[in-house]
Amino acid sequence: MAVQTPHRPQSRHLHLDESAIWQRLEQARRPLDEKQLLEILAKAESLEGLDRLETARLLNLTDPEQVQQVFASARKVKNRIYGRRLVVFAPLYISNHCSNECTYCGFRRGNQELHRTTLNVEQIKQETTALIAQGHKRLLLVAGESEGDQGLDNIIQAIDNIYAVKTSKGEIRRINVNISPLLPAQFERLKLHHIGTYQIFQETYHQETYQKVHLGGLKADFQWRLDTPERAMAAGIEDVGIGVLLGLFDWKFEVLGLLTHIAYLERTFGIGPHTISVPRLERAAGSRLSKAPPAPVTDDQFRLLVAVLRLAVPYTGIIMSTRETADIRTETFALGVSQISAGSRTNPGGYTHKTSSAPQFSLGDHRSLEEVVLDLVNHGYLPSFCTGCYRLGRTGTDFMGMARPGAIRNHCDPNGIATFMEYLLDFAAPETQRLGRACIENVLEEMAPGPRAAATSLVQQVIAGRRDVYC
Ligand code: SAM
Ligand code: SF4
Repeated sequence: MAVQTPHRPQSRHLHLDESAIWQRLEQARRPLDEKQLLEILAKAESLEGLDRLETARLLNLTDPEQVQQVFASARKVKNRIYGRRLVVFAPLYISNHCSNECTYCGFRRGNQELHRTTLNVEQIKQETTALIAQGHKRLLLVAGESEGDQGLDNIIQAIDNIYAVKTSKGEIRRINVNISPLLPAQFERLKLHHIGTYQIFQETYHQETYQKVHLGGLKADFQWRLDTPERAMAAGIEDVGIGVLLGLFDWKFEVLGLLTHIAYLERTFGIGPHTISVPRLERAAGSRLSKAPPAPVTDDQFRLLVAVLRLAVPYTGIIMSTRETADIRTETFALGVSQISAGSRTNPGGYTHKTSSAPQFSLGDHRSLEEVVLDLVNHGYLPSFCTGCYRLGRTGTDFMGMARPGAIRNHCDPNGIATFMEYLLDFAAPETQRLGRACIENVLEEMAPGPRAAATSLVQQVIAGRRDVYC
């Protein structure tokens, strides 16, 4: 039976008008004077977001002082909406079999050198146990495309088995998924298994480039992929994550493509995506394209892109994976990132070393979860393992309805602190514990009395031995 949602629209399709994107980029070429820049930044700082022309204008900035002004505004917006919190998760790859031929990916079906594996139930449980033992509470389940219901059956079986693992060190409380596009009825099935966010990246919004790099399998159909977030939302999946794979085509075009997609979802469903991801193409064994990206994005462009996205869509989470190096990650945390992976492996069996398959792509950040946590604390961030909203049903429009007036922080901050205290008590070495507790004290001091009281109560419950407390 179909899952009912308040925003179930008539079936429509996004027709991506490339000429409109080029036109905006062309219009935005004129340099911005100081007054124009301040006007755009003032609008962004009022948390209204930016339209696509304003966004394009900021993306075109090259003057170092003006870029610094954008960074300063992005830091303010990031701080006002997300405070010091950074949500932490780990990917769990369950299969590297894939029926598609994405020329940038190590899992592409034509890569004869890759040792293929799909984890069995026992292996999935072992990987889950290993991640729980590190301190993780949130996973991103990842897989190559396996066509038909059999592929979805495996995914669902994996989700059920991951949630079923309960150890003395805790359990996984939220599973997000990054898996291939599904049909409406399949999305409805997936929803019944309590996923958090469904992620799907368009890779490139430039259709000609899309066709050039996707040479076979269902993924070669640009429109099928483009319609996927809409299909998922129409099927009742309220938190959807979208993204682009940077390095395939002009990065400014891609950002405007992403924002066009977001605007369309907002018009259609009343809310946009829950998160956006902007992975840069990394080297992958068995992919020549990944070693020579056709449109590489420099570090300077990448920092600007993250900051501008933060200003353009202030309430949408921005995810940063371990594809990036520790240094770039740290810089972009201040500019807008709100969720990060840590201690990641991108090959099935990677956490327990039970298989010998190659990773999907090479990682820039090889640190363990604890090393990342310590580094976050040293930079003044509060690592959060919170899953409260999703467990209380605060998703989709409910979540955005609280995020926009700023009310969500009254939950996120206390829950972030409580879950970090759990991490410190259950997993951290003494020095991490000492620094982490000091970080919690600092954050508590900065909080308004109401949320501080809520946070203090949760922390006391955790210290007293209770787990999984949230408000
Ligand atoms: N197979 C599914 C799909 O393609 O939608 C989901 C999993 S796929 C492993 C997840 C994402 O990895 C892709 O959407 C793509 O953006 C990213 N990816 C693939 N190859 C990459 C590479 N060489 N460097 C960085 N990211 C890559
Ligand atoms: Fe398969 Fe996804 Fe890799 Fe494409 S990106 S080859 S669909 S795993």
